[in-house]
Amino acid sequence: MAVQTVATTTDSADTVDLGPASALACRECGERFALGPIFACEACFGPLEVAYDLPSGDPEDLRKRIESGPENIWRYAPLLPVPADVASKPNLNPGFTKLVQADNLARELGVTGGLWVKDDSGNPTHSFKDRVVAQAIEAARAFGFTTLSCSSTGNLAGAVGAAAARAGFRSCVFIPHDLEQGKVVMAAVYGGELVGIEGNYDDVNRFCSELIGDPAGEGWGFVNVNLRPYYAEGSKTLAYEICEQLGWRLPDQIVIPIASGSQLTKIDKGLQELVKLGLVEDRPYKIFGAQAEGCSPVSAAFKAGHDVVRPQKPDTIAKSLAIGNPADGPYVLDICRRTGGAVEDVTDEEIVDAIKLLARTEGIFTETAGGTTLGVARKLIEAGVIDPSLTTVVVNTGDGLKTLDAVAPTTGMSAVIRPNLDSFREAGLA
Ligand SMILES: *Cc1c(COP(=O)(O)O)cnc(C)c1O
Ligand SMILES: [Zn+2]
Repeated sequence: MAVQTVATTTDSADTVDLGPASALACRECGERFALGPIFACEACFGPLEVAYDLPSGDPEDLRKRIESGPENIWRYAPLLPVPADVASKPNLNPGFTKLVQADNLARELGVTGGLWVKDDSGNPTHSFKDRVVAQAIEAARAFGFTTLSCSSTGNLAGAVGAAAARAGFRSCVFIPHDLEQGKVVMAAVYGGELVGIEGNYDDVNRFCSELIGDPAGEGWGFVNVNLRPYYAEGSKTLAYEICEQLGWRLPDQIVIPIASGSQLTKIDKGLQELVKLGLVEDRPYKIFGAQAEGCSPVSAAFKAGHDVVRPQKPDTIAKSLAIGNPADGPYVLDICRRTGGAVEDVTDEEIVDAIKLLARTEGIFTETAGGTTLGVARKLIEAGVIDPSLTTVVVNTGDGLKTLDAVAPTTGMSAVIRPNLDSFREAGLA
């Protein structure tokens, strides 16, 4: 079948400057397309991803260039689909979040090989979504969009609202109507339109796909739909940062939450690029995926040995991970199997326990997604699937202040006393 390069109004290679990004390539059949706001292969409907002319030459030079760059994701601009002068544009400049050496947690879990928490709650809107939106907004600029949109499980809506406000775009974002108050307020406060849809995330996503094909959505950049190839690349920066912060080396094991699966697949892509570029030594690493039992389509497929992911109807407190029909599910299965990792799930109760464990041991308050990831890490360590003698990184993707309801019923004041010492002693606190 003859395939034509998709013509868009702005696809001329002279006008689209997205740095080292050279084309879009189909993940299934390899067909290439000019850079543009497209996301599915014309030939086989496979997902498109960004292909690059990556820097060649001495890895030592590239490493020095990165190390002397800004303390945010733009230090990796030579490896991302953004123009070279990206750091000078109005953007929230996320990234370079802390990699916390979690010795207390390691002791509690019996990990001896080193345990780190990559703490992405430190991003501008307190989730890893700022990384992906920062890429999408540069693509939106390049393609001449004026409105930014998305279908969101909560964190993405906030990240788009904030980035649009700073960069001077209009925004109109869509969420399931029954999200946590922290997510709703956080998404609304930046002044864009926030629309609640009566349905779950998969319904929201379907609605957005319809809107893209309709005149009502003309001129709109949906960061995770028609800008998805660019958006997704932002997750590579997690891989780059983890390796740089470990002293330019690959971790042995990494535990990552799965919603659509995009983040997990692009962390793997980022690790492989670092190997190809000679920035880290090539050695085996294992990738583990984490889901909540109440939304575990990828975990279920992994355990059953299936290649296809059967959609589920989500019912879990981990709402930011509640995607019942994950677009990148089959690729997640490939990666976890190829690297010798696994996909596992935990109950809502285990999620809450893990949130409290991380807070109690390391002083990090994570949201339910982070509770899911640490809960799965703990379960796999106890099962002997994660090797406690190897270097392990757990990715914390969000902030506990956005999901207070998860822990509020089981946390609170130790006592309420009158303001005097007798009362303090009576309460047994002396
Ligand atoms: C969106 C999100 C994820 C994972 O998203 P993918 O769709 O799998 O890339 C993980 N954690 C949090 C807190 C999120 O908001
Ligand atoms: Zn294809």
